[in-house]
Amino acid sequence: MPTAAATSAREILTGLHDVMASRGSAQVKLDHVVDLIAAAMKSEVCSIYLLRDSSLELFATHGLRKEAVHVTRLALGQGLVGTIAAEGRILNLDEASSHPAFAYRPETGEESFHSFAGVPIIRRENAIGVLAVQHADARCYDEVEIEALQTVAMVLAELIAGARLADGSTRRGKQRDGMVRLAGLKLVAGMARGTAVFHQPRVLVEHTVAEDTELERARVYAAFRKMREQIETMTREAEFGTAGEHQEILETYKMFAYDEGWSRRINEAIDSGLTAEAAIERVQQRTRARMQEINDPLLKERMHDLEDLSNRLMRIVSGRMGTAAQTGLNRDAVLIARNLGPAELLEYDRRRLKAVVLEEGSLTAHVTIVARAMGVPVIGRVGDIRHIANEGDTVLVDGDQGSLVVRPTGQTVAGFDNRMAMSLRRRAEHAAIRTEPPITRDGRRCTLMVNAGLAEDASLLQQTGADGIGLFRTEFQFLVSATLPGRDSQLRLYKSVLDAAGDKPVVFRTVDIGGDKALPYLADEKDESENPAMGWRALRLSLSRTTLMKAQARALIEAADRTVLRVMFPMVSEPWEYEAARALFEEQLAWAREGKRPAPARVEFGAMLEVPSLAEMLDLLLPRIDFLSIGTNDLTQFLFAADRADPRLAERYDWLSPAILRFLRRVTREATAAGVPVRVCGEMGGRPLEAMALIGIGIENFSITPAAVGTVKTMIRSLDAAAIRAKMEVLLARPPRDMRKTLVDWARKHGVALS
Ligand code: PEP
Ligand code: MG
Repeated sequence: MPTAAATSAREILTGLHDVMASRGSAQVKLDHVVDLIAAAMKSEVCSIYLLRDSSLELFATHGLRKEAVHVTRLALGQGLVGTIAAEGRILNLDEASSHPAFAYRPETGEESFHSFAGVPIIRRENAIGVLAVQHADARCYDEVEIEALQTVAMVLAELIAGARLADGSTRRGKQRDGMVRLAGLKLVAGMARGTAVFHQPRVLVEHTVAEDTELERARVYAAFRKMREQIETMTREAEFGTAGEHQEILETYKMFAYDEGWSRRINEAIDSGLTAEAAIERVQQRTRARMQEINDPLLKERMHDLEDLSNRLMRIVSGRMGTAAQTGLNRDAVLIARNLGPAELLEYDRRRLKAVVLEEGSLTAHVTIVARAMGVPVIGRVGDIRHIANEGDTVLVDGDQGSLVVRPTGQTVAGFDNRMAMSLRRRAEHAAIRTEPPITRDGRRCTLMVNAGLAEDASLLQQTGADGIGLFRTEFQFLVSATLPGRDSQLRLYKSVLDAAGDKPVVFRTVDIGGDKALPYLADEKDESENPAMGWRALRLSLSRTTLMKAQARALIEAADRTVLRVMFPMVSEPWEYEAARALFEEQLAWAREGKRPAPARVEFGAMLEVPSLAEMLDLLLPRIDFLSIGTNDLTQFLFAADRADPRLAERYDWLSPAILRFLRRVTREATAAGVPVRVCGEMGGRPLEAMALIGIGIENFSITPAAVGTVKTMIRSLDAAAIRAKMEVLLARPPRDMRKTLVDWARKHGVALS
């Protein structure tokens, strides 16, 4: 049964089809269209505004004064119409004049109309005009009417573009030639030089109104079948990652591919009279609009997965299967896309794909995780890159700095090549000391472990020569899954990591979810508080959801069968929290042993010190723990009351500030005196100068980001630990104004390698 929205849109589309097929100028057709819509929607006014010479011109109207046509103009962002076009959103108002953006245009005679609803007319993701209806009564338009307007706007876009009545884009003045430097978000490090290749010349919907609805329905069904087959094949043949995250990402795809809601919405759009392509696009537009309103990054990510599949469906249905992956890359390519689904990335030839630049993208995005595993540098959030670069342009990508250059001059290329050569040389030097121990010049054996969280990360031990995994962030598995990972899937992951690590230790941290790492499937735990980092997260959440923690404990216990299980708890604020978590693990351990189930020979328990209050309770905590791990990322944000995610504060408080160093020294001294090993596992330890200062206050164990192992090891091997210890005593007694500069000078003078 077609829905009311479909019937309403269908009625208009049938008329529209005839208008579009009729002879006559585009103006005549649009004049007919506004009459048609006004009659079908029983609205007193229906107007079409088109983007011309950067402003919105009233192009056709039913109900407003005809003298205003081609006279009334609104700049982008001006008035209700300008706001709709600039922001690409819908306005639905019962009293138009009380909206803050309302701009009165006396020539239109619109003062007698109270209610207003307008939708953008979108072409190639840009608003090229606005379709609006108005009523004398103060009433809100219902969803069915808005839906119908949007469907009609989509068909109008075709007519308008065909007649070249509007400007192509609301985005003005983008540079298409000459060298352009751009900055973005560092997602995957590395440098590359290549030629711009667009992932997808978007499939442009050419025919929107269906001749034969049943035929269109059959086309969509066939496309769905084919897409599902493709996903199944990809799942079977995933080139790498037979277990772990990739598999789970493909599972998410599968979930969408079989999602009843999605296919139903497309079907409804077909019922309203659209072609298969237009129906897919219509639903995709709606998803995109919804995406703009969502703040939850994880949910946004899922929406991107859906968009990825929607593009695939569109390619199948239109027979234009060629993404750049299918047509094949024939030289070093820098792939450019608005966003990319992980499955789409997996289709590229890894040898020719040198880098990826995205308009969107985020650190926790699935595609980032996959790219990292493929070793392809990625820069995200480079707004408008698809409008700035041309296919075939040379692009220099610096994933280490998060910057890129499009169409560089010869001189810029030469400078970039030099830096790239240096970076490669440095990498080669680091590789050469991979098997050498991190030992200071005066013989202090430090330990350098890595932070990890994905199944693939286990191979980093081999690549970096690190001493183990000092922080395995188990929540990553939860973040990349569409549903709560069960005990078995946790067990598989932990086992595979332990197997890959062999004799090297792995420290598993129990899940640190909640706060900003919200999981859509744990909606009831969603933290709406203003300070989620200080909210219902990590151990606080785990201790209240003991089923979740028990499942994790059992998975860890079984995975470490007959070996040593090392486990630590995040965000311990008071010793009782540690005791409660440990007791829960011990209960599960007793259960496993009694039931003769697989269990570790020994368990080492640790606490993370990342909440300052715990430092005051060390006398009670230390006798109960096997190791202490300092999470400097959270610790510094709490010490300084400075949000770690706020870029404005990123440079404000230095990790080398005496306050932090004195605090860490106090904790380290107390722990060392009690015979408890201390390790730093925050980002701070991965910076050579900071690591040098930490050695100076007695910390010799680090768990750091894998990419930093080479640099930090080189620093350690060039350092005299006793000398830096003596220096730090002096500096912390009477801190210099600029600790960083003082330490850099000292390092230079003493031949300490900092890069
Ligand atoms: C930390 O807070 O320093 C830490 C290592 O944990 P995370 O970054 O995962 O919060
Ligand atoms: Mg932390």
